[in-house]
Amino acid sequence: MPVMQPDPAGVPGAGVWESLRVRRSAAGCPPPGGPSAGPAGLCLVCAGPVRTGYLRCFQCDLHAQSAPGLLADVVAAAAYAVKGGPLARDLWLYKSGRKGSEPAAARVLSLLLLCLHERGPALWRAAGMDQPSAVCVVPSGRGRPGPHPLRALAAPYLARPWLSLRPRPGGDPWARSLDPTRFQATGLPPGATVLLLDDTWVSGASAQSAAVALKLAGAAAVAVVVVGRHLPAIPPPRSLPTIPPPVTAAGMPARALGQ
Ligand SMILES: [Zn+2]
Repeated sequence: MPVMQPDPAGVPGAGVWESLRVRRSAAGCPPPGGPSAGPAGLCLVCAGPVRTGYLRCFQCDLHAQSAPGLLADVVAAAAYAVKGGPLARDLWLYKSGRKGSEPAAARVLSLLLLCLHERGPALWRAAGMDQPSAVCVVPSGRGRPGPHPLRALAAPYLARPWLSLRPRPGGDPWARSLDPTRFQATGLPPGATVLLLDDTWVSGASAQSAAVALKLAGAAAVAVVVVGRHLPAIPPPRSLPTIPPPVTAAGMPARALGQ
């Protein structure tokens, strides 16, 4: 059963999801613990590493102190993106326009859709919403023209209105700390419940700054879903994961987020 209500025009078959899971396994990208998993040693917000005895990592704790009550209600990552690993490379490659960007984009999209499909209901509950009423993407620091690459990828599968988040003029697009004034949200219906997407979570400052902007603009709840939760390089595994075959548009579900 899809995490979100399927679109009557195209109910994804179980085989589609299963094939995406196989590709995810082949890529060596297991999903991190969910919001209620709370495994020892992981930040309860971002599933990053924490020091023994702490519930949140340093950055998430700093964010909580900086903008109490205005942060995302829940944060989830589809997978860990270890520095130098295949997902970290895909997250760079998919928006580069270079050779290999298309299969990388298909793998990134697979991870995102699977995360929404498998974990969506738990995430919406954790965020205090029935379902997202709108979708939004954290603006890119590069300020490239046109829609954000992640929005361009996901939009056909997420049948919800897209909200606009823009960097405020004069702001620092590369700021590494949470800045409540960094983004401006427009066109938000009162009480909107927002699914906020990003491709990579490093410190979380960008996504949380965007969540704050949405809350200040009237969002009732914000659920952040990122594709890759960045982790610093770790010692190489005994055997390198196999790069999965390219995923084509034909192998994607018709809808991950229906009306
Ligand atoms: Zn954290």
